[in-house]
Amino acid sequence: MIPAAFAYHRPQSLGDALALLSEHGAAAKLLAGGHSLLPLLRLRVASTERIVDIGRLGELKGVRPGADGSLEIGGLTTYSELLAGATMPWVKEAVEGIGDVQVRNRGTVGGAIAHADPASDLPAIALALGGEIVLQSSSGTRTVPVDEFFLGPFETAIRSDEILTSIRFPAQPEGATGAYRRIDQPASGYSLVGVAAVAAMADGRVGHLRVGVTGVGEAAYRARGVESAMGGSDGGTEAVAAAAEHAVDGMEVNSDIHADAAYRSAMARVITIRALEAALGR
Ligand SMILES: Cc1cc2nc3c(=O)[nH]c(=O)nc-3n(C[C@H](O)[C@H](O)[C@H](O)COP(=O)(O)OP(=O)(O)OC[C@H]3O[C@@H](n4cnc5c(N)ncnc54)[C@H](O)[C@@H]3O)c2cc1C
Repeated sequence: MIPAAFAYHRPQSLGDALALLSEHGAAAKLLAGGHSLLPLLRLRVASTERIVDIGRLGELKGVRPGADGSLEIGGLTTYSELLAGATMPWVKEAVEGIGDVQVRNRGTVGGAIAHADPASDLPAIALALGGEIVLQSSSGTRTVPVDEFFLGPFETAIRSDEILTSIRFPAQPEGATGAYRRIDQPASGYSLVGVAAVAAMADGRVGHLRVGVTGVGEAAYRARGVESAMGGSDGGTEAVAAAAEHAVDGMEVNSDIHADAAYRSAMARVITIRALEAALGR
C-alpha cells in the first residue's frame, strides 16, 4: 500500500534535525534505515505528518571502543558497521543472526533500540551488557540506564523531541563472557524467544551475571530471578537448570498465533539454559 501523505525533511546536521523535532514534536517521525518504519507506514499501521530523515547524518555513526574496555555505538551505526567494529565476539555472532544482509546493511542500532519491537534482538543484548542510552534534544543531552529504557511494546523513554545519538556499554567485569541464544519464529525470522547472558566467575562462584530476555513479554527485560538464583552458585548444570526456572518470573508472557504463553514460557527456560551454559563456557 501507499503510505498516507507526509512532508519530508532531510536535515544536513544533527542540530537541524533536533530543531525540526523541537518545532514539530510528536507530529514528526525520525527515519533512519527505514526497515521498521516504512513497512508500518505502507501498511498504514502508523502515519505521520512529517518525516525527518536522519539517515545520512554521518556524525551519528561509529563504533568507538574505549581504552578501558567500554564501547560506544553511534545511533545511526548499521548492523554491518557494528559487525565490522564490535570488539566482543559473542555480540558479533548474535548480530550476524539478525535479519539478512539487506537488513544488516540498512537497519541501524539506534533504530532497533528506539523501535523497541518486543521480539527485537538488540534490546536483550543491551540489557545483558548494561550501560546507558544517550538522548539529545535541542535543550541538551541526557542519559537513561538501559534497565529503565524499554517501557512496553514499541514504547521507550525517548521523548518526541529527542534523538538517540549513541549507546554506551561499560567495560565488563574481569573474565566476563557472554552469549546470545534464540529460537526463531520460522516465518519472520524474528526471535520467538531470545536470551543474552553475560557472566563472570570469581573464586569458583558466579560473581557477575546479567540476563536480558526478548520475545517473551511486552518489552525486553532483565531476568532478575535468574540472576539472583545463579549469583554465588558454582555455575554447574544443576544451578543453571534451577535458575532457568525463573526465566519468566513476574512476566505476563506473550501469547499469539506463533506460540502460546505455555510454550513460550517453556522455551524461555530452555533458551535461558543454553545462553547460561554458553556464557559460562560450556
Ligand atoms: C526482513 C526483516 C527481517 C528482520 N529481522 C530481524 C531480526 O531477526 N531480529 C531483529 O532484532 N530485528 C529484525 N528486523 C528489524 C530490524 O532490526 C529493524 O527494522 C531495524 O534495525 C530498525 O532500524 P532502522 O534504522 O531501519 O529504523 P527505522 O525503521 O528508520 O526507525 C524505526 C523507529 O525508530 C525511530 N528511530 C530510528 N532511529 C532513531 C534514533 N536515532 N533516535 C530516535 N528514534 C529513532 C524511528 O522514528 C522509528 O519509529 C528485521 C527487519 C526486516 C525488514
